[in-house]
This record gives sequence, C-alpha cells and structure tokens, in this order.
Amino acid sequence: LARLRRRLSASNNPFAKGLLSLLSADTLDAATWDDLEASLITADLGVGPTTELVEALRKELSVSGGADADRAKAVLRDELLRLVGPDTNRGLNLTGADGVPGVILVVGVNGTGKTTTIGKLARVLVAEQHSVVLAAADTFRAAAAEQLKTWGDRVGVEVVRGPEGGDPASVAFDAVAKGIADGVDVVVVDTAGRLHTKTGLMDELGKIKRVIERKAPVTEVLLVIDATTGQNGLAQARVFAEVVDVTGIVLTKLDGSAKGGIIVPVQRELGVPVKLIGLGEGADDLAPFQAAAFVDALLE
Ligand code: GDP
Repeated sequence: LARLRRRLSASNNPFAKGLLSLLSADTLDAATWDDLEASLITADLGVGPTTELVEALRKELSVSGGADADRAKAVLRDELLRLVGPDTNRGLNLTGADGVPGVILVVGVNGTGKTTTIGKLARVLVAEQHSVVLAAADTFRAAAAEQLKTWGDRVGVEVVRGPEGGDPASVAFDAVAKGIADGVDVVVVDTAGRLHTKTGLMDELGKIKRVIERKAPVTEVLLVIDATTGQNGLAQARVFAEVVDVTGIVLTKLDGSAKGGIIVPVQRELGVPVKLIGLGEGADDLAPFQAAAFVDALLE
C-alpha cells in the first residue's frame, strides 16, 4: 500500500494534483468548473463520468459557498469511490475443477504489458505458495517466448514453449497437460495480441480456449490494457471483449501517469472489474486493485 501511495501520490500524479489545487481555489467560479472538467477529461475519466462528478461537486460545494479544501477533497473522494465502484469480484478465480489447475488466459494488444504482467503475477502466486506453470502461447514472436522464459527463470517457474510460428493452441494445451501431470495449482497462458482482423483474433483466441478446455476450464480471462493509451486503448480493448469472455481487467502503466481516470470508463464500457494494476516494470510492481486504496492514493 505504501508503494501504491508513492507511485500514485498527488505529488507525482498530475490527475489528483490538478484537481485538488483547483478545488482549493479561493472562489469556485465558472472558470474553475471548466478547468476541473478539462482536467478530468485529460485524465481520461470520460465525458459521462466527468459530467456526473462535476455536477455532484457543484451541488455539494455550492451549498457551502465552496473554498474549503478539506471538504472539497472529501466530496471528491466520495464521488470517485462511487464512480470506481465496489470491490466485489475483484479477486482472481484460481480454483480449477477437481484435480485440475486454475487456468488464467491473458489477452490484449501487443505492447500493453501482457508478458510483464504474467511475470509479476507468477511471482505473486509463488509468494502465496501456489505452484505455477507458464505457457508461451505467443508463438508469433520469438522474443515474446524468450521474454516469458526470462521471467520464468527469475521467478522460478517452468515455462512451456513451442516452435516459433507453431500453433499457439497446442502450446497452451501442452502447458495445461503438464500442469495436470505435475499437480500444479495455476497455469497462466500468454497470447499474441495481433489486432489483424476481428475474425482472425476470434478464431485464434477461441481455438486456444477451446483446446485448453479439453483439459481444464479456463477460470479467468484477463484483458491487459495500457492506461497511457486512453480512448484508443479502450477501443482496442472492446474488440477483445467482443471475441472472448473477459472476466477481469489488468490496467498497466499507471505509475506516474496522469491517466488514472481511465479506470472508470474501462469498467463501464466493458462491464468487467479492474482486478490488477501495473505500477512499473519491476517484479514487485503489480497490485490487486482496491477502490479505496486507489482513490486515497490518488488524493494523498
Ligand atoms: P506485451 O507485448 O503485451 O507482452 O507487453 P510487454 O510485457 O512486453 O510490455 C511492453 C513494455 O511495457 C515493456 O517495456 C514493459 O517493461 C512495459 N511495462 C509493462 N507493464 C508496465 C507497467 O505497469 N508500468 C510501466 N512503466 N511499464 C510497464
């Protein structure tokens, strides 16, 4: 939590800094509200949620005549919490069916941070005493499998790979088969995020999922989204959510980003909770998403 605070604190997060300095202005006039609205849009909160937030703040603060920084912060906190939503269903489902591992399929556009997230997640799972196998089912780029292998070695978990250009579904299948044979708790599957055509993507991810499910149910489909890509990232995420049943979102690159607001539209538009957040490139830079901790860190 201390790390989360440090990474997201107002001092290096223009999102919260801008909001709080605006709200502590001496007078809350029309220009202040316009500036506030602009800051929220810049922070990727989205037009709808921004309007809701500003309206609520105006209503609450105009009664008191404004200009009370503590009160403004409290109202802002409440409104952000409401927009971010409750923490129900934010835990990962790791429990496989009888005698088979939980299977986590990780999807998303290349470069969003899938492989890095899997490395960090493996480390968390190992620290929680789970046994883990990783599947390098992004067979299109040799570098992707190499990168996952490096993470596996670092964290001390096995990585199942296939030949470059091989069938991703067969790598996923082999990894799950190995997981079952070794009595492992969790298999995490990395996939290629080529946004070539929607049907191509659908065929590929659909096949991986179907083939895995000959062996074990997929317990989580995590969609990785790069928080710094804003509306564009959201549009790409929508395509993935249409082709595969996403159960949770991982929002990466939230460290030092002014774009923390994206959490709200992402959840609204995809109808799926943010479960994990990426706060840097290091092995320890993955945190479970918790609404209050997140909002408090933003407003620290
Ligand atoms: P993939 O193509 O989706 O597997 O993406 P990678 O895991 O290769 O990540 C792409 C780049 O983003 C790499 O340089 C990562 O180190 C970086 N990255 C991933 N997650 C984070 C994060 O939470 N914060 C920051 N700052 N960088 C990240």
